[in-house]
Amino acid sequence: MNGAPTSEDSDSWVTLAGRNPVGNEDALFAIPLAAALADPSPPNERNAYPFAAARLAQAFLDPARAPDLAVVPTPRHFRPDHGGHLGEHGSLDAVQSRGPLILSGAGVDARGVLPRAARIIDVAPTLARLCGTQLPGRRASGLDELVTPGARHVVALLWDGVNCSDLLDLAGAGELPHVARLLGRGLALAGGVVAEFPSVTLANHTSALTGVGPGVHSILANEFVDRPTNRTVFANDETTWHRACDLLRPGVPTLWELLGASRSTACVNEPVDRGADYSTLALVRGSGSGSGAAGLRHMLPDPRQDRHADQHWVAADAGYAWSAQVDALGLVQMHQLWDEAEPPYLTWWNVVGTDAGHHAGGPYSMQARAAMRDADRRLGELLDVIDARRLSDNTTIMLLSDHGSEATDPACQGSWSEALEHAGVPVRDAGPGFLYFGG
Ligand SMILES: [Zn+2]
Repeated sequence: MNGAPTSEDSDSWVTLAGRNPVGNEDALFAIPLAAALADPSPPNERNAYPFAAARLAQAFLDPARAPDLAVVPTPRHFRPDHGGHLGEHGSLDAVQSRGPLILSGAGVDARGVLPRAARIIDVAPTLARLCGTQLPGRRASGLDELVTPGARHVVALLWDGVNCSDLLDLAGAGELPHVARLLGRGLALAGGVVAEFPSVTLANHTSALTGVGPGVHSILANEFVDRPTNRTVFANDETTWHRACDLLRPGVPTLWELLGASRSTACVNEPVDRGADYSTLALVRGSGSGSGAAGLRHMLPDPRQDRHADQHWVAADAGYAWSAQVDALGLVQMHQLWDEAEPPYLTWWNVVGTDAGHHAGGPYSMQARAAMRDADRRLGELLDVIDARRLSDNTTIMLLSDHGSEATDPACQGSWSEALEHAGVPVRDAGPGFLYFGG
C-alpha cells in the first residue's frame, strides 16, 4: 500500500498475516535454462523475486504518481485486454525481470558466464564510469570490478525483452554466433540484469539511463495517474515515445545530460535521449510528425528486402515486420555514426524486434528465437565495422535487455478490478495493476 514499504531492507519488513510472499529473493533462481523449462512460470510459492524489497519500496516514492495499491501479477497471467501476448513481462518475479547482461572488449577479461546478477540501475553508473565520470550520489555498482575504464569508445546495445537464459544457451550452442563473439572476448552474468518494478519497457529504459528506479525518475509504468492533473498518462506508446523525456521528474538528469559536452554521444531508436548529441527521436520531434515515429513508417526500409529479417515471420506477423523496419533503420544509423572520422565516444542502440518476437511467440518459441537471430545478424554487421576500423581493442561493448520474458497461460485470466467494483471501491486501474482509489 502507498506509504507502507519505505525500507529497501527486507529484514525490516513485517509480515502481517501468513507467509512473506516475496521472501525468496534468489537472483539466480531458475538458472540454467533447463531449470526454467522444468518448472515454467511457477506459482508464487515456488517462485523467487530478486531484490524484491528494494524494488517494491522504490515504486511508492513519488507522491504525485504512486498508486495506492500495486498488484503483482503471476507470470502465467494472460491479458487479452493488453495484447494477449504468449510471452509477458511486468511482474516482480525472477524470469520476467531478468534480462541478459554481457560485457565485452576493451577493459573486460574473458571470464565466461559468472554466477551473479546486476540491477538495471547499475547500468548508468557503469556507463558513466566507462566515460570517465561519476553519477552524483551513485550507489556502488555490482559491475564496477568487472570492467576497467579507459577505452576509446563505448557501445551499449539494448535488445528489448530478451529471455536471458535462452540467449546464453543459444549463444553457447552456436546459434547466435555474434553474441558468442562478444562472449569470447568478455563475460556474461548468469543472473543477468534485473529490471526495476514493474518490469516494463519505458520505466526500465529510463532506469538504465538515469541510474534510479521508476519511483524516483517518475516514469512509473506503461500507464499511471498523475494526481496533480488527475490524468492517466499513457507513457509507452509509439505515438508519444518521442516525448517520453517530458515525463521525467524535474531534476533527474539523463546519462546524456551528465556527460554533457565532455563526451560525444549518440542514441539510436531510444526514447530516453535528452541531452544526447545525436538521437533518432530528436529527428522524429524535428519532423513535426503529429503521431511520432508511427507517422513516419513510410520512410522506413522495406522489411521484405531485409536480408537480416526472418522472412517467414515478416510475412506472418505485422508487428514483427514493423519492428524489423525499425531495427533495419537502426543499423543504417549505426553505419552512419561509425563511418564518421571519429565515431561517438558512447553509442547506445535500442533494438525492438526481440521484444516483438518474445511477446508474440513467448520465450523459447520459434518466433522469439528468430527475432534474436535477426538481432544477432545485425550485431555481426556492426562488429565487422568496428573490426574493419581496427577499433575492437579500443571499444568496450555492453549488451543488455530492459526486462525478461516468461510464458503466459491463456487459461489464466481474470481481473482484480471487478472484485473491487463489486465491493463498492471506486478505483482507477493503470499500469495495469497500478490501482488508484477514488476513481
Ligand atoms: Zn521492453
